[in-house]
Amino acid sequence: MNLFRDLGKRAEKLKQQVAASDEKTYRCADCGTEVRTDREACPDCGGDDLRRVQ
Ligand SMILES: [Zn+2]
Repeated sequence: MNLFRDLGKRAEKLKQQVAASDEKTYRCADCGTEVRTDREACPDCGGDDLRRVQ
């Protein structure tokens, strides 16, 4: 049925949107603060060693 195929596609799109919104999460290697944007330095301690969180 086309209806089910359509729902499947929508669910797939939704999953991709969720993954995309999650994709820029970093953690400061110095103080452990989570940084949720693509800043170049930690807003807390100013450290620039940000590790990507999966
Ligand atoms: Zn920090």
